[in-house]
Amino acid sequence: MSGDALSQDPAELARRIDTTKAHPARVYDVFLGGKDNYPADREAAAAALAANPRGYLDVRHNRDFMRRAVDRLTERDGIRQFLDIGTGLPTAENVHTIAQRIRPDARVVYVDNDPVVLAHARALLTSGPEGRTDYIDADFKSPAQILEQAAKTLDFDQPIALCLVAILHFVEDDEAYPIVRELVEALPSGSRIVLSHLTDEMHPEPTRAVQRTYTERGFTFVFRSKGEVERFFTEAPGVSLDEPGVVPAHLWHPGPAPAPPAIDAEDFESLDDIEKIRYRDINDVTDDDINVYGATGTKA
Ligand code: SAH
Repeated sequence: MSGDALSQDPAELARRIDTTKAHPARVYDVFLGGKDNYPADREAAAAALAANPRGYLDVRHNRDFMRRAVDRLTERDGIRQFLDIGTGLPTAENVHTIAQRIRPDARVVYVDNDPVVLAHARALLTSGPEGRTDYIDADFKSPAQILEQAAKTLDFDQPIALCLVAILHFVEDDEAYPIVRELVEALPSGSRIVLSHLTDEMHPEPTRAVQRTYTERGFTFVFRSKGEVERFFTEAPGVSLDEPGVVPAHLWHPGPAPAPPAIDAEDFESLDDIEKIRYRDINDVTDDDINVYGATGTKA
């Protein structure tokens, strides 16, 4: 266990947290049914659900894609190091929990730029004695800082899985593509990329309506097509896409679905109903619901 980031002055941390505005990590937490969110975040989630009532399924299937990908890379491919940029708030299954269940010596470095995630990061530093986890309070747009700090925990002579799961839609092209390339260039041979991305390609109308609710609230929100998601892999030197390529997240190596929730939800109608999505079942998904692509790649 490590965590220099946690030695921050609590007053300074509190100053950085603005609860009057919605934050991506906390809005995401609302859709996962979490409790680490504020009224502004629930209001933003409600606006997004008004635009696309089944939009919470993208979030839950994205998270489940991440779970299956980490599980598969650890179990089947022997990966034991992860660099997870855009971690989000700790929830039931985080990267280190999944990887260390299979390989207790797995090492995970988490990176997020949101002070709310930093405030909850202690829950991410619960590594077992054989493994290690660390948390870096940094922006994706500072790859040199990320790489330098990650090297304190990860061995850059051994394969590393770079996880960019539901983060790149917050970054415009001029930074997203070159920075992914720079990060991948720093990884040794045999390293992997785990990437998911929102798209408007499958259902343009509801997804663009959702996009408007976020841009109105000051978020950068970039959809990318399948071809644009593939470019993150093909433009990075020596990287090839793994089977089955870039696919809707719920179709990427589907496995046993998570247990259904105990209570059936009624339809979402207003902000007062936000609690109901806590109980909605991810298993009722159809191909018409999903607007997120998932893929993994391998560096030769
Ligand atoms: N990867 C997790 C969480 C996705 S939510 C999952 O898929 O389940 C997106 C996360 O990316 C949020 O926690 C947000 O704070 C973080 N994020 C957004 N832009 C970022 C940036 N420029 N640098 C670092 N983190 C960022």
